[in-house]
Amino acid sequence: MNIVLLGGPGAGKGTQSDKLVDAFGFCHISTGDILRGAVKAGTELGKKAKGYMDAGDLVPDDLIIDMMKERFQQPDTAEGVILDGFPRTTVQAVALDSLLAELERPLDAALLIDVDPEVIVARLTSRRMCRECGYIGNVSDGDTCPKCAGEMYQRDDDNEDTVRNRLDVYAKSTAPLIDYYRGSDLLVTVNGCQEPDKVFADIKELLGL
Ligand code: ADP
Ligand code: ZN
Repeated sequence: MNIVLLGGPGAGKGTQSDKLVDAFGFCHISTGDILRGAVKAGTELGKKAKGYMDAGDLVPDDLIIDMMKERFQQPDTAEGVILDGFPRTTVQAVALDSLLAELERPLDAALLIDVDPEVIVARLTSRRMCRECGYIGNVSDGDTCPKCAGEMYQRDDDNEDTVRNRLDVYAKSTAPLIDYYRGSDLLVTVNGCQEPDKVFADIKELLGL
């Protein structure tokens, strides 16, 4: 199965991706994780992307599209992918359609994790991540990752000003994709304001997994 995850920052795309991977072994591709890895490693891509990311702005489409073309070359994508954070603009969605057509791999669903923006600011400013394994937790986890004992930290872009900008960018650039996928009859919507396990149960039912 090839699935696009839609939903604003903090909707729970990463959390639900982890659950899908654990249960079904899909290949999870998070553009945010790839970009953070590139920044940490100090690659050319990372140097170009960092300023946009810290401000909560989108990294330019051509950089993202090239990055994803390269990612789809890898054999682990053949079994099916969960795309988390891509596409984020209509230009990227069109590029994904032609990439998948070229690879003869259909898109099965665009899954919208729907949450109220009011909930998001609180969720994101209290979010913490593991530096080692990428586990997504909360300020209540303290300084140590419950999964691997790595160091928990706050993402540079999870401060309140940047979160508000990310929400604006989402509304302006990414929300239009909801209609894009509704138009091609691929849109499936789950209520993301529930407990993560309940959201996951609903997702399995909606996708027939
Ligand atoms: P979130 O969904 O929580 O906002 P992500 O981890 O998906 O965060 O992305 C973090 C940042 O990486 C974004 O704010 C943006 O700067 C950049 N980014 C990630 N994916 C894309 C994309 N498809 N197009 C442009 N920029 C992206
Ligand atoms: Zn960890």
